[in-house]
Amino acid sequence: MISDLSSTLATDSRWHQLALQVLEGKHITSVQAEEILRTSDDELLELLAGAYRLRHKHFGKSVQLYFLVNAKSGLCPEDCGYCSQSKLSKAPIDKYRMLSADQLLDGARLAAERGSKTYCIVISGRAPNEREMTAVEMVVPQVKEKYDLKICACLGLLNDTNAQRLKACGVDRVNHNLNTGKEHYDKICSTHTYEDRVDTLKNVRSAGLELCSGGIIGMGETPSDLVSMAMELRELQVESIPLNFMHAIEGTPLEKEGNLTPQDCLRALCMMRFVNPASELRIAGGREKHLRSLQPLSLYVANSLFVGDYLTTKGQPPESDYQMIADLGFEITRTEFDSP
Ligand code: SF4
Repeated sequence: MISDLSSTLATDSRWHQLALQVLEGKHITSVQAEEILRTSDDELLELLAGAYRLRHKHFGKSVQLYFLVNAKSGLCPEDCGYCSQSKLSKAPIDKYRMLSADQLLDGARLAAERGSKTYCIVISGRAPNEREMTAVEMVVPQVKEKYDLKICACLGLLNDTNAQRLKACGVDRVNHNLNTGKEHYDKICSTHTYEDRVDTLKNVRSAGLELCSGGIIGMGETPSDLVSMAMELRELQVESIPLNFMHAIEGTPLEKEGNLTPQDCLRALCMMRFVNPASELRIAGGREKHLRSLQPLSLYVANSLFVGDYLTTKGQPPESDYQMIADLGFEITRTEFDSP
């Protein structure tokens, strides 16, 4: 009797209807996306059920793990207000130049051991210098020879030439986050522009690489800013979207931001899923802090997570992630899911 009732509720809901439209290939509008962000807590389960239909269509019950290495930390001349590695940050973080090839190979071994599908090599800085580009070009073929891993490089702004060099050495994908909506961008950074970021993504695409780009919620943006970012990601047809939940770090300009409830995080994930139904959606930094005990619900919407630590903040132990995925009845997969 209870299951009859719940299925009636789910199929009658406006989110079920919207999910059906999306499954038929119709894009949702900005107005509809903002409505998702305004869904009441009472209606949240129905919203999640609608988003799950889209997640299930494209990714089944699979969960893909990503593992990242902070290959160069701090020492960045840029002023991104959320970042503990920026020139403005007073946060007490480790600061070091590019890791050696052996250290990067060691990170790849850990990624493989932890069941990750993708190894993300991340460096701080505005853009890679020649030494850093060469280091990446040398290590990527070695990683690929030893391990069955995809490589995602996050090296800052990229021109055409550097994007093509990454493609040539075997990098599969480049991460470069939009971070927030166009209208909000100058409130979080003044040393480069939103357009610089979009240009990098276009250069990466022209080089034949996959795109990974997402953002951070909880930086004082409006719902319309968030929707604008989601729509831009749709326009750029990004394959992979990491969504971070502002983990405000003491000593950074945005140290007072990051006032999010678990429900806010779920609504933002649902909106991202409805706008970008077939893109990988990853729960990223701040998930432990802001989703807290509701973390498992987020995997009904997202299909991917970072296992282990983030750039300068700790993640939960990998065993907790494996347990959460198993408890949900989901499966870790290291290969692309073929949608039916
Ligand atoms: S986000 Fe990247 S570019 Fe911005 S301050 Fe941090 S390391 Fe530098």
